[in-house]
Amino acid sequence: MDTKEIIDLDRRHVWHPCTQEKDHESLPPIPIDRGEGVYLIDTEGNRYIDGVSSWWVNVFGHSHPRLNRALQKQASRVAHHIFAGFTHEPGVELAARLCAKAPAKLEKVFYTDNGSAAVEAALKMSFQYWQQAGEPGKTRFLSITEAYHGETVGALSVGGCDLYREVYRPLLLEGFQVQGPDCFRCPHGQSRESCDAQCFDAMESLVAAEHGRIAGIIIEPLIQGAAGMRIFPPVYLRKLRALCDRYGVHYIADEIAVGFGRTGKMFANEHAAVAPDIMCLSKGITGGYMPLAAVLTTDEIYQVFYDDYQSLKAFLHSHSYSGNPLACAVAVEVLNIFDEENILEGLTPKMDLLEANRERFEALPHAGEFRRCGMVAAVEMVQEKKGKTPYPWQERRGYQAFQAALKKGALLRPLGNVVYFMPPLTIPEEDLQRLLDIAYEAIVEVTD
Ligand code: PMP
Repeated sequence: MDTKEIIDLDRRHVWHPCTQEKDHESLPPIPIDRGEGVYLIDTEGNRYIDGVSSWWVNVFGHSHPRLNRALQKQASRVAHHIFAGFTHEPGVELAARLCAKAPAKLEKVFYTDNGSAAVEAALKMSFQYWQQAGEPGKTRFLSITEAYHGETVGALSVGGCDLYREVYRPLLLEGFQVQGPDCFRCPHGQSRESCDAQCFDAMESLVAAEHGRIAGIIIEPLIQGAAGMRIFPPVYLRKLRALCDRYGVHYIADEIAVGFGRTGKMFANEHAAVAPDIMCLSKGITGGYMPLAAVLTTDEIYQVFYDDYQSLKAFLHSHSYSGNPLACAVAVEVLNIFDEENILEGLTPKMDLLEANRERFEALPHAGEFRRCGMVAAVEMVQEKKGKTPYPWQERRGYQAFQAALKKGALLRPLGNVVYFMPPLTIPEEDLQRLLDIAYEAIVEVTD
């Protein structure tokens, strides 16, 4: 098919994720032919730096020789088989290796096939735990404003981004929500450096009053991704862990976006030196190759489900593609690459480069904030800098920046008015600088 045929057929039959299809009248979807390292190449030969790791999944670049080989090798043995009553080498190796990298108390791995499904499994696991642990009143989950945990109904229920959930509100589960950290517009007048998570008080008083009804608290550690890469300091997580311990509430860490090196460490919770009771992983787990997710938990939680079948305590949750061998084989190779190619150690010059661009972005008249955590950085465009006045959302400044950047050869898919960078960890420094330059020009172009 040539480019036009692909687009015509797409327009006739395809409904894209998170898209107002009418936008395709002026900017049709771009058919991608192949990937090479950090570049995506379309059917016309145009090259785009993948500045957002294709929705935060890609870790080592596209069409990676080692990951290609791992996938092909596993495909020649078996692509998929049922994971109930059967098991396979990549699945057990991956589980063991994930547990070895995670905090010591996380010893058990439950596989699902995407991030939202992992969150659903985590919520159900926590809920059922309390039903079987003699505290049946603990049926609700607590989450924070602007949280994002996925699009399925359970995951959306613990979300806090109105854009994605408002229309579905009557469908959602009842839960508790408290104001989360908002470091850019901190109501306590603190900076991230001076912060002692004063905003945590809201969480503390709610949990003190309602812990008898709370099964777990779910949080995206350090970076609220979909909310616009809102970055908050580790002290918040330390307070959260202590609170969960004090009141007997599960700390559920959604590391789906921030895991696998994005924050400069393997998992974001390492910055706070805390261990969650349940940890959700996905996205980078297969380097962006295959849909896979994992829910890690403690032996203590696992044991509450472990009994004679007749007790009906089993976790009867399943997905057809649970523990898919192709995905697990690629994920094992991802961990091999992390270990053998010293990926985390290699991030320092790139994080320094991001930091070196801070001043330049901050000097822009419409850059409200340049924020960074590890390999993730974001520029929040504002209408008026002093008052941090946002641009009206209807103006779609971010979408305009997306279009401007595309023309210059970069895939940047902003969130609202926030242009962010979450490139593959292996991005060469010259490509990273080019990405930053393109973003800078795009921001200048769409702000006035
Ligand atoms: N949690 C977080 C923190 C996420 O960023 C995402 C996806 N952006 C999800 C959950 C949902 O994952 P998926 O898109 O694979 O369902």
